[in-house]
Amino acid sequence: MKKELICVNCPVGCRLTVTIENDTVTEVTGNSCPRGKAYAETECIRPERILTTTVRIGNGLHRVLPVISEQALPLDRIMDAMKVIRHVQVQAPVQVGDVIVPDILGTGVNIVASRSMEQV
Ligand code: SF4
Repeated sequence: MKKELICVNCPVGCRLTVTIENDTVTEVTGNSCPRGKAYAETECIRPERILTTTVRIGNGLHRVLPVISEQALPLDRIMDAMKVIRHVQVQAPVQVGDVIVPDILGTGVNIVASRSMEQV
């Protein structure tokens, strides 16, 4: 089976052609660097995404705090991760990089603050 992808690892956006046989990537063409091959292999076999969202924050400058996953999460776990994050509320002050949800869903990935927020 052949699959067409656009590599999103940098602004060049190489058009990749991926050959998949028995759930294994056997060939990647169109990539200008090794990152494209790695992206194609991950995207076709076990896609991942960086999760960016917000959590509620009390006593802060704003009502919500932007958060981000420290590493990419398996795409099929994103909705479950959002269900956990939806119930989280933190209190200001928060510093950028503070761990908001450690080891979400046992993935080993922390959800961290992507900005600081002072207390008001
Ligand atoms: S293959 Fe390399 S050069 Fe091409 S878009 Fe991906 S990261 Fe950029």
